[in-house]
Formats: sequence, structure tokens, C-alpha cells
Amino acid sequence: MNQFEIHDPAILANARSILDSAAGPAGMAQEVLNAVSRNEEWRGKRCINLLAPEAPTSPTVRRLLAAEIGTRAAEGHIGRVNRWFAGTQYIDEVESLCVELLKKAFRCNYADHRLMGSMLGNLTVYHALVKPGERIMTASQPFGGHSSNRPDGPAGTRGLEIYDIPYDPATLEVNLDQFAEEALRIRPKLVVMGMSMTLFPLPVREMVDIIAPWGGKFVFDGAHQAGLIAGGQFQDPLREGAVILTGSAGKTFSGPQSGMIMWNDPDLTEPLTEAIFPVLVATHQVNRVAALAVAAAEMLEYGNVYMAQIVKNSKALGKALEQRGIPVLAAERGYSETHQVIANVRQFGGGLDVAHKLAEANLITNKNLIPGDTPADWDRPSGLRMGTIEVTRLGLMEADMETIAEFIKRVLIDGEDTQSVQKDVEAFRLPLQDFYYNFDNGWPPK
Ligand SMILES: *Cc1c(COP(=O)(O)O)cnc(C)c1O
Repeated sequence: MNQFEIHDPAILANARSILDSAAGPAGMAQEVLNAVSRNEEWRGKRCINLLAPEAPTSPTVRRLLAAEIGTRAAEGHIGRVNRWFAGTQYIDEVESLCVELLKKAFRCNYADHRLMGSMLGNLTVYHALVKPGERIMTASQPFGGHSSNRPDGPAGTRGLEIYDIPYDPATLEVNLDQFAEEALRIRPKLVVMGMSMTLFPLPVREMVDIIAPWGGKFVFDGAHQAGLIAGGQFQDPLREGAVILTGSAGKTFSGPQSGMIMWNDPDLTEPLTEAIFPVLVATHQVNRVAALAVAAAEMLEYGNVYMAQIVKNSKALGKALEQRGIPVLAAERGYSETHQVIANVRQFGGGLDVAHKLAEANLITNKNLIPGDTPADWDRPSGLRMGTIEVTRLGLMEADMETIAEFIKRVLIDGEDTQSVQKDVEAFRLPLQDFYYNFDNGWPPK
């Protein structure tokens, strides 16, 4: 029988042959450990990781991900009567500390700690606030939107009618006049702004006012911006009229990969909390919850200065790339007010080829759709997205962004052999092995 795979069949076939030639199950396990080590040696020690949705955790947060508490079952809401299992008093303590730390970090009345990803945070919203057939408006992918709010993601599985928020293709801004016109006609129950490509604050107040007349609610999917929001370096959507903020814990927030959801209105507590359990999560990885709690405490102590440096580094990286002949979006606006920098690399072969070429030199980035790309460019878009979270947590500053831009230029403009650039990237990166802005290593370096 023909075996159909969506995963790359050649890579799966390679895994089968590795397992077939391994010395029994113990050898198979060893192959897994070997691959993990290879990644740690390469991505962990020798690469300049510029993936925007990726953040290094502090040593303590990473250690907690292997803690004993993560082997315990604790489904349900916090508290003796709420849980099905006995023996959870310390788990209740850890989880309640996490909830209260998240409320402090986001300056809000309610938060939940159990989401295994921000995808589930958005599904929580779609489960709690809308019914199948109801209308929502969200940002489409070419303008930076994310599948979680689109027909191919959680919003789609809820059977919602999904309309596009109109954008100005030249400026990448929401076209507010057109939005007002279309929203009035569509009367969406929810407007959800979730931007994976995010350079500047969004017109939250304006959009909230436009949909208020028919009771439309605004939700800010801050997957990428959560850390910037907690650190006070971005707009604060819950203070600008958004009723819910969802976020990824492992992007700018720099905690364990998972999700968070925050809100202020007590009327939302029951629908949201009961969508989380018993609908979307049962056991929810208490080790991860403990790690998230510590990451929130790190944000309270260091978020402000850490996130400010991330933004400064983005601006510096954008400028340094542009000065070296690599076109960067939004030059006229200072390139970025977030952790992201977006280059137009069409002239160098497009985002896919450029990202893979840079990876040969240990510079890790990703392809990205940018304005002007059409749906046909989906697999081979013109853009390249870079993020400054990890390089910032390694302690790098604006001047170091020039060094990084120079490495990129040597590959793209000078056409230098990637092997020789890789050597210099490794020489730059290998001495940098400590992450700062946390209770392990502090900031500035001692
Ligand atoms: C990354 C992203 C998500 C998904 O977050 P996970 O934590 O990876 O599940 C949702 N929405 C947006 C806008 C994103 O960029």
C-alpha cells in the first residue's frame, strides 16, 4: 500500500534506516540523544540565531523543564475540590504563584497558565466567545497574520466566517477607513489582531471604537509581542480596549514554549477558564508552569531593560543591513519598534534560498511573505525575517549588530564562500555562552 506522508518522506525514510541499523532499542534511544546533542552543539553554541519566534530561556527556567513536578498529574482548576487528584497541594502552590506572577507581569486582573501553546490560547477565545457561523475579522498572512486566526487554523475549525482586516500594502498599516467601512457591513463579533510579522504598534483604540457600536470585541493575539508588552516597550492592548490578550510564552517573553491568556473583565472568567478545562487541556505540564512562573518573575525584574535593548538592537540591525546594501522594510520609520527586522531579499534569490544559504554560514533566519508578494509566492516569498531576542539575551548591544550585518552582507552581497563566513561566525559566537537578564547571570554582566 502506498504510504502517504505530509512530512518529508525522505527524512522519515532516513530515520527508519537509522533505526534499522541501530543496535536494538537502546541504540535507537542513543540515536535520539545524538541528534539532540548535534543540535545543541550547532544551534546552541555555534549559530547566531535570528529566528523571531525563538527565545533562549534562563538556566533556571531550562532546568525547571526537567523538574520532578512535571511527572505529576494535576488536571483541572487550582484547589482541593476542583481537582480530581489528591496530593496536589504543592502543585496548587506552584500554579497559583504562576497565575499571580502573570497578572503582575501583564498588570491585569486574570491570567491562565495551562495553555500548551498560543494556538490553544486563540482556540480558547474562539471556543468561549463565538459560535460556529459567526463572523470575525483577522489579519491575513501576507500582511503578517497567523494561521491560528485564519481558515486553516483554530478559527477555521470553529466554523467561523473569517473576513480579512484591510491593509495598506505599501505601508503595512491597517487601512482604517476601509476597515471602518467593511466592519460596519460585516459587523464582526470579534476582531482578532495576531501579527507574526510585527514592526510597529497597531491602531487598537481606533479599531475598538469602530466595532463598539454593535458590541464587537477586540482580541489582541500578542504571541510575538507578549514580552515587549510585559516589559513596557510596546503598546498595552488591555489598556487600549482589547478584552483579551493571548501570548506565546516562548517568543519575546523568553519563557518555556507554551501559551498565556490574560483579561480584566470578570464576565469573561467563566467562559475562558471553562474552555481551557475541560475542553482544551487536561494534564498541562506542571514543570512548564513552574518554568513559566520563574520567567514571569524574570520579566518583572529585567523585562524593562531587556526588552528595551531588544528594540534598540532591531533598529541597529535594520540600519546596519541597509547601510550595507540590503533593503530593509520601514527604513523611514526607523526599521522597527519590536524584536523584528524584515529585509527584502528578492534580488538575492528570495527568502527561501537566502535563509538556507545564511544557515550554511550559521546565521539562522526565516523566509517571510512581504507586501507585494502574491499567494503564489507562498513557498518562495521575497522577505527575510530576523529577530533580536537571542542575540540580546547573549548580552549583545547595538555595535554588535554591525558585526552581524557584516556577516550577512558577506554572504549576500560579496558572495563569499559560506564556509569561510561560518568560521568567523563561530569564532564570534563560541565565547558567548551565557544568557543574561535573569536571576542566574543578572544584567549587566558581572
Ligand atoms: C507564533 C504565533 C502563534 C502560535 O503560538 P504558539 O505559542 O507557537 O502556539 C499564534 N499567533 C501568532 C500571531 C503567532 O505569531
